[in-house]
Amino acid sequence: MSKMLLEVTDLRKHYPVRAGVLRRQVGTVHSVDGVSFSLGAGETLGLVGESGCGKSTVARSVLRLVEPTSGQIRLDGEDITHLSKTALRPHRRSMQIVFQDPFASLNPRMTAGDIVGEPIAVHGLATGQALEARVAQLFEQVGLRPDQMRNFPHQFSGGQRQRICIARALALEPRLIVCDEPVSALDVSIQAQVINLLIDLQKQHGFSYLFIAHDLAVVAHISHRVAVMYLGRIVEIAGKDELFRNPRHPYTQALLASVPIANPLAKKLAPLVDGDVPSPVNPPRGCAFHTRCRFAMERCRTERPVLKGNEHQVACLLNEGTGRGQ
Ligand code: SF4
Repeated sequence: MSKMLLEVTDLRKHYPVRAGVLRRQVGTVHSVDGVSFSLGAGETLGLVGESGCGKSTVARSVLRLVEPTSGQIRLDGEDITHLSKTALRPHRRSMQIVFQDPFASLNPRMTAGDIVGEPIAVHGLATGQALEARVAQLFEQVGLRPDQMRNFPHQFSGGQRQRICIARALALEPRLIVCDEPVSALDVSIQAQVINLLIDLQKQHGFSYLFIAHDLAVVAHISHRVAVMYLGRIVEIAGKDELFRNPRHPYTQALLASVPIANPLAKKLAPLVDGDVPSPVNPPRGCAFHTRCRFAMERCRTERPVLKGNEHQVACLLNEGTGRGQ
């Protein structure tokens, strides 16, 4: 088993809901509600779920871009959950993020070369010609021409802009890159190119990805393991092949059935889930999925299932005792 680079334990992020003139707290958004997982060096963990399930909040909490309400984040064995900004700075180099919308995350008034070189300059790692040479190298690594360093973001296509973002993320030689829906805004024809680039870069550099997406087909392509999130919790986590061959949680089964994946591992299952994700403000008691689950039993309304298992973990009362779903 690979050495663990990232270990997240019982992570929670709750937001107060306020109303009225006095802005009294009238509820709590349970955006992330007890998430635990680990990520090995050189590994990709796909984190998948519908919009609003909390996966992007997990990503931002891991990077400390939002402060977790509770829980623990360990990077290379060191607890970084409560480090001050100054103490966190050396770790920030190790952890980078690629956002969904490359245009919004690039400064339109900076050249592409300056954007990619900025983190190197800020950390004082190179100046002058050495900086330019390093940026040119990064451009080549992501499939851009060094002469494009002088162009501005609007002069690139969507896929090329995401390549600039990836080059910027690579600039500080990180060990962990969080990819938050990095291809969702791109044309389908471009998505595969960017995913393949990410896979090739990982092979060359050996860093880890926490890969967030709502699209199981995308996650299936890049991930070694996959975690499925529902209403702020992980409901199933397993190796990719195992999860696709043998999905045990009814929600995972529904997600697989709803995705037109050209994947021979995926079972063809009838759609099992209707309706929208319930609000994370005061989420359903018991199993949060019981309002949409066609296998829901009476006890599902009151008992909250916890993740159980070893390599393949699932949080469903159907699986308890037998270790299997249907
Ligand atoms: Fe469905 Fe019950 Fe399992 Fe939840 S615990 S997924 S409601 S069967």
